[in-house]
Amino acid sequence: MRPRTVLVFALGLMLLVTGCGGPGKTPQKVAAPPSASAAPKPTPSPKPKPTHTTPPAKPKLRPLPKQLPAGLHRRSGSPGVALTFDDGPDPRYTPQILAQLRAAHVTATFCVVGRQAKRHPELVAQIVREGHQLCNHSWRHDVDLGRRPLAAIRADLERTNRAIHAAAPNAPITWFRQPGGRWTAEELTVARQLGLRPLHWSVDPQDWDHPPAKKIIKRVESASHHGSVVLMHDAGGDRTQTMAACRHLIPDLKRRYGIVRLR
Ligand SMILES: [Zn+2]
Repeated sequence: MRPRTVLVFALGLMLLVTGCGGPGKTPQKVAAPPSASAAPKPTPSPKPKPTHTTPPAKPKLRPLPKQLPAGLHRRSGSPGVALTFDDGPDPRYTPQILAQLRAAHVTATFCVVGRQAKRHPELVAQIVREGHQLCNHSWRHDVDLGRRPLAAIRADLERTNRAIHAAAPNAPITWFRQPGGRWTAEELTVARQLGLRPLHWSVDPQDWDHPPAKKIIKRVESASHHGSVVLMHDAGGDRTQTMAACRHLIPDLKRRYGIVRLR
């Protein structure tokens, strides 16, 4: 190869090399896609709530027995009739029924709900002061209480007793009545362990269902006998009709049978 040819070849080679890789010719980086920070941020959509979470396991309820358990008190224990008033105390109606009983010089048994006793301790104190008997009617009127674990039943009854005693220290709480009369044998056992006697009833005019006073009177009078235990309500709803019925029933039952303390 002649020297001139070599030179041309070398120059061509240099051009070739610099033409595709010299400084300033570095290929631009491929433009990055618009960065996330520059782009408008999409509003994060709220995550759909999971639909298959397992709810906390509820303790199984014991089945209700087909028949009421043995050992419930349904009689007054003497020839007279015993009156019982459930679900209070209630500031609208409990003072009314207390006034009626006071006027007739008779006493009754009040089946009080624990949280009502906590709300209206002055009424619990008045019930006791005026010589009436007390009955534990569960903390929150739990119609399924008898079906719950024994420890839950015990805790409920003790809590209710504490609320009653906070209002009326040392007042005897003689009775327990299961809300709705949905008793179980297990519940009777717990009540007895706590020194509470299980109180049922023999006359139920269903005044909780708001029948007119006339109907309440008729139902009570047609079902009452010597030794009956009458169930009525001084709370848990509008008790105007019960109050009106009692204005007739209290003097009438007193005249016919006598109104007595539960024994
Ligand atoms: Zn009740």
